Amino acid sequence: MGAAKGGHLVEPLHFYDENIPCLAACPVHTNAGAYVAAIADGDDLTAYLTARLPNPFASVCGRVCAAPCEDACRRGEIDQPIAIRALKRFVTEKYGVESSANETWKQVAAPTGPKRSQSIGVIGGGPAGMACAHDLARHGYQVSVYEATAQLGGMMKLGIPEYRLDRTLLQAELDAIVDLGVEVHLNTRLGRDISFDDIRSRHDAVFVAIGASLGRGLDLEGHEADGVLKAIEFLINANQGFEVDIGDRVVVIGGGDVAMDAARTALRRDEYGEAGPTTEIEASDRNVMTEALDAARTATRQGAADVTVISLESESEMPASPFELEEARHEEIRFVHRRGPARILAEDGKVVGLETIAVTSVFDADGRFAPEFDPADSMVIECDTVILAVGQAIDVEALGATGPNITPRGVIELTEDGLGTSLARVWAGGDAAHGPRTLIEAIADGRRAAAEMHEQFTGEAPDEVQGQLVELDQFHRLTDTYDREERVAVPTLPTDRRVGLAEVETGFTEQQARCEAARCLRCFANIELDVNKCVLCALCADVCPLDLIALIPAEELGGTVGATALTLDERACIRCGLCIERCPTDALSMAVWTGVGVPQIGALT
Ligand code: SF4
Ligand code: SF4
Repeated sequence: MGAAKGGHLVEPLHFYDENIPCLAACPVHTNAGAYVAAIADGDDLTAYLTARLPNPFASVCGRVCAAPCEDACRRGEIDQPIAIRALKRFVTEKYGVESSANETWKQVAAPTGPKRSQSIGVIGGGPAGMACAHDLARHGYQVSVYEATAQLGGMMKLGIPEYRLDRTLLQAELDAIVDLGVEVHLNTRLGRDISFDDIRSRHDAVFVAIGASLGRGLDLEGHEADGVLKAIEFLINANQGFEVDIGDRVVVIGGGDVAMDAARTALRRDEYGEAGPTTEIEASDRNVMTEALDAARTATRQGAADVTVISLESESEMPASPFELEEARHEEIRFVHRRGPARILAEDGKVVGLETIAVTSVFDADGRFAPEFDPADSMVIECDTVILAVGQAIDVEALGATGPNITPRGVIELTEDGLGTSLARVWAGGDAAHGPRTLIEAIADGRRAAAEMHEQFTGEAPDEVQGQLVELDQFHRLTDTYDREERVAVPTLPTDRRVGLAEVETGFTEQQARCEAARCLRCFANIELDVNKCVLCALCADVCPLDLIALIPAEELGGTVGATALTLDERACIRCGLCIERCPTDALSMAVWTGVGVPQIGALT
């Protein structure tokens, strides 16, 4: 429970933001709860501004964000998380770049200050590079983007299939950034058309965001056979409209290089003399699984009759969103769980099958990824194409001998406290500095690099998060049936209409959006206690449906011996307000923190 001090200003400043799970989980700190609540209240413009201000790719994210906010959403502890991503789409369709009726987004993206003399080179026109260009251009810098291919967008265009992300919408969001005055050099591949030193000599600072577009190598027996493809290369070709020669029966191996290493180690237990690798499941593993599912769904659209995804994990253990899995299943993609790849079988140099071995367990007693196999339990899946989703690598050669230091993991080495590199006035971010990341993490890197550059040029540190707790005269009440209001399913095209590039997800109707948004618990509100009014009657503790309020001896908290303390677990509180209503002395109230995520047009939040 927050303690009100002098005029409601509180310390520590960050507690209230950290206690909004969706906001804390979002790499750009979008106050998702605030925009969801605004939709429930019918204030779609405020909702749009709240979603757009921290994110120059709000419209794209409304379609394809991995939505870590939904994984963290407190409503998920009651039943299912709020469909935050689909609700963002609902408001970007009204006010974003894809809306024809309104140009609100132009006000949001307007420059914030005078033109500045410094020039910045951004290498890579993907999400990290373009987010950085957006913020720098708004700050008034001269920005030049160097993009290797013929189009901006990076993996948003090359890696994400068009049936998930409409290309017209993506282009509109990229054009909005270019229109801020960003100079673009297409078909300018680093290391081939221009050297790193050249770019460095042209600009006062450089942001390296070259992505990770190379498929990783793989040491699996049979990997050189005709019919073995790397998922990222398959997707890049398919997404550019090139014909990719795949057979009728396709097997996609999902799970990333960690999964591959684990299975290989199991087969060579005698050589290793130990168990397989142990690691934490990271966001990058989820990326690889998304890549595997994208490859499988793209294969069906390329004409494959029979597509199977094999994974080390059971269905519930897979690092993929339930929505992604459900969509793949609708498209009749078959899953074979708890199998690891042993070898690719070939005849006359062509793939004829994949031999798999059983997985006996995936995680160790501490919950760490440590798969165990039974090599004696093998099974062959007949196929003519094997697609390997084994992660991606960055093209370090392109940086040349004078580029920034590279780590043993093959990514650009960063300074300990930010996105600086071993070279002065050179920053790096996105996949090139961290390995494959989610789209929203790449956007966050671009924004952070821009903020670090701006600080170095001007000496202006980003504003400290300031805020106030504002007491609400009226507050939102959960309905009596709040725990029986199921998540509204995100509408999709019927399976028989999912042909070619047709976008599968279609978006909420107004009624669906209002119903889904009303499920939000509004975690941005906080229960406040006025200690001068509290008489320690404990009636609030009696009514709390989750038993979150307790009266305990104050000495247990280091307080005065003989005194009583009232505690409330705000991290579990569902903001139902029953305690406030029951309090006979009005000692409890609901207050909103005005720190992060409060929309202000013209601000760079
Ligand atoms: S319930 Fe609402 S405010 Fe709370 S985490 Fe979920 S979306 Fe955010
Ligand atoms: S009664 Fe409701 S608002 Fe009060 S602490 Fe319990 S869950 Fe939170």
